[in-house]
Parts: sequence; C-alpha cells; structure tokens
Amino acid sequence: MAKSAPFVWLDGKLVSWEQATMHVATECVLRGENVFEGIRAYWSEAEQELFLFRHADHIARLRQGAKIMRMTIPYSDTEIEAASLELIRACGYSGQVHYRPVAYFDMGNLTDYLPSEIRTGMFILAFSMPTTKAVHEGVASCVSTWRRNSDLASPSRIKAGSNYHNSRLAYIDARLNGFQIPILLNEAGKVAEGPGACFMMVRHGKLITPPVTADILESITRETLIELARAELGLEVIERDIDRTELYICDEAFFCGSGHEVTPINSVDRYEVGDGKPGPLTRRIQKLYFDVVSGAVPQYRHWLRPVLGGAARAS
Ligand code: PMP
Repeated sequence: MAKSAPFVWLDGKLVSWEQATMHVATECVLRGENVFEGIRAYWSEAEQELFLFRHADHIARLRQGAKIMRMTIPYSDTEIEAASLELIRACGYSGQVHYRPVAYFDMGNLTDYLPSEIRTGMFILAFSMPTTKAVHEGVASCVSTWRRNSDLASPSRIKAGSNYHNSRLAYIDARLNGFQIPILLNEAGKVAEGPGACFMMVRHGKLITPPVTADILESITRETLIELARAELGLEVIERDIDRTELYICDEAFFCGSGHEVTPINSVDRYEVGDGKPGPLTRRIQKLYFDVVSGAVPQYRHWLRPVLGGAARAS
C-alpha cells in the first residue's frame, strides 16, 4: 500500500511529498547506504498534546550507527529535533505519528566515505500510524530459515537501510508459509530478534530477552521495557541467550519496538504460546508502556518531548 504525507523534510527544508525525490545514482538508492531511526509520537487525549517518545535516545543511536559506518551527519541534535518538530507540525497530525530521520550517502563510489569524498544528506519522513490490530490480537510467529545478520558481516547494531534486506527475506518467507512475523536466529543458532522488533518471553514469571550481543538492534523499546518491568512491575528481567526449543515451551512471548510497540506472540511454528492468546503479563506490560508513552506516568515524563506546546511557546 503506497504511503503518502503532506510534507517531507529533505536536506534542510520542507518540501511537498511529490518534490521529495533523489537521484537513482546515489549510494542511498543503489546500495541502501543510509542509517535511520523509526520513532513514534504519541497523542495524549488528556493533555491534547503530541509527545515524541525518547527522541534524544533514538538520535544517539542514529549517531552510533553512523559512527560505525564512518558517516558524518551534517546536522546537530538540536537541528534534527527542530526539523522533526517542524515536519510533524506542518503535517498537522494529531493522532499517533511514526517519523523516520534518515542520514544517507549521496552520489559517489563504494569506497567513498569521507565528507570531502561524498556528501551526506538527511531527510525525515512522518506518517500517521495508529496502533495495529496485531498489538491487540497477537500474531502467529515462526522460526525463520534465514539467519539474522552477523556482527561480523552486516552488523544488526547499525540501523542501516541495507540490513532490511535480511528482514524482508525473512518476512516474505514467513508470510508465504502462513505466518505473520518471524523470529530470526543468529549464526550461533540462538534467538536474535524479529525483522523489525526485539523479542521477549516469559518463563516461570521471569522476563527473558536476548542480550545486545546476540546480533540484535540495541532497541530503545527493549531498554524501556526492561526498566519498566523491573521498576514498576517488580519483575526479574534476565538478558541471556534463548534456545529455539524454549520458544515452544515459554508461557508468554512478544515482540517490542517503536513500530510494533508490544505485539503479543500467540504461537511459534504452530506451537501455542501459553493458551494461544496474549498472556496476562504481556497485557500488563502493554498497558504500562502505553501509559508511559502518552505521559500518564509522571516519573517517565523525561522521555517525552511535547510537539504542540513547544510550537505555542516558540511563537
Ligand atoms: N530490531 C529491529 C531489526 C528493528 O528494526 C527495530 C525497530 N527499530 C527494533 C529491533 C526495535 O528497536 P526500537 O525499540 O528502538 O524501535
């Protein structure tokens, strides 16, 4: 389904959706040479305000990926935040928003990476994106026959556009086989993550998730849920390797990410997870997450950046 938005922020200014084009010979188009973020802004009905969720942490991760790629992003954190706010306000969204700052390599050669050799540009996309049905109902998952990108080849730690070739292969395979979202194992055969989200499971009342060294993206949502589960729900959270067979006997499981939020997993390889419905702890974690992102939990307000109040103050 083709997406559209009123505006795109491209290399320093807002342009219309139709004007947001790029030459076919750029490294970005040819080889997927970019690093990006997917961030949500949440609408608070109580405050009639839109909040960016953990924007600064996402931009820190963007810079981390860019550093590994030896890419110099030509905008400061303040400029990227201002550009994101300008775009979201201009688009006039009031419900949930998903926005995507992307730093990209312009025209050049595979071997060019210095700012003097290749221009690095930036664009930001923003879409209206309500919570999906899958978050409410859960999904049928499977173990993918594809392996997650290894840190030794195409590090999953970098949120690079080109890494999503791996995700796409896994997605297509899963869909053709009647599943919704696959789980990828890493090259060591341990659970890594989903194609666009991290993985968590509940066993014996404990929350278990693969470590950041398991060929996963260092997910902001994963980090958020680990903190919330410990501090607010008193849960023991363990970061350790997960075997494939544990997927078949766990009590609850879910994907987590800015896009997927907290998406329950009802089955893996047609083994029911628990009773085949979103589990009670998963539901509590979901509720807490949605309360925090919409500003209802005072001690986590530092993760939020108001979009519309900021505009009122600035004018
Ligand atoms: N893993 C992958 C491969 C992803 O694309 C995402 C989504 N950005 C995540 C994990 C979750 O990361 P985050 O919680 O920071 O959105």
